Amino acid sequence: MSGLPVLVLEDLNVFYGGIHALKGISLRVAQGQIVTLIGANGAGKSTTLRAITGLVRARKGSIRLDGREILGLKAHRIVQQGVAMAPEGRRIFPNLSVRENLMMGAYHRSDADGVQADLERVYQLFPRLHERRDQSGGTLSGGEQQMLAVGRALMSHPRILCLDEPSLGLAPSLRQEVFRALEALHGQGRTILLVEQNARAALRLAEYAYVLETGRVVLEGPAAELAENEQVRRAYLGEG
Ligand code: ATP
Repeated sequence: MSGLPVLVLEDLNVFYGGIHALKGISLRVAQGQIVTLIGANGAGKSTTLRAITGLVRARKGSIRLDGREILGLKAHRIVQQGVAMAPEGRRIFPNLSVRENLMMGAYHRSDADGVQADLERVYQLFPRLHERRDQSGGTLSGGEQQMLAVGRALMSHPRILCLDEPSLGLAPSLRQEVFRALEALHGQGRTILLVEQNARAALRLAEYAYVLETGRVVLEGPAAELAENEQVRRAYLGEG
């Protein structure tokens, strides 16, 4: 994989009580790349993102951001270090306006000019959010809330953006819009770790992919190669 690694996970182990959910996950995401995690329900994709963002504590292993260990830091410190997450299920603030929701993503920043510039960038990326900037978040459609969750994550000006199922439950046209936005972010040189149930779309977008099964990486490689892999096609692309 080319480029400097932004994020490196080594031998990550996570338990939920007695459930060993991640059994030694190692992966890396290079600068400017989209890397995707694919796998069946329960494979450990969301848990991997939750461990990176400090929402669950790994019992063993290492998570390095630009070479610095972040495992063990509190979630808000991890955001400050440059990791942003748009969680599955669009956890936005329903009673705040779209603009206020976006500004929540920048709560720890003191560079007002930078925040304003990022707000403009998010509005350019998602013109619907600009149109609806004074509307309360709870009145947005599911797809628009998903865009808001991605926009809010971008407002922290992250080194790496972690996205958990950004197209989940969306109508095809909105799904396309979300994927187009991810392409645009990629074009801007953003670094993205993407968990996506639509493996076909994820492999098309990403440069590199990891396949997870029951808490382990069972296959990895350039996304274009995995899309041609017989096992991947059968298990995750619904072919053969
Ligand atoms: P999905 O696509 O269904 O979201 P996933 O690959 O993201 O699946 P995870 O949500 O990371 O999988 O789950 C990994 C394993 O950990 C599963 O066996 C799941 O049941 C278990 N698990 C996840 N969250 C918890 C929790 N809060 N408490 C107990 N077990 C959990």
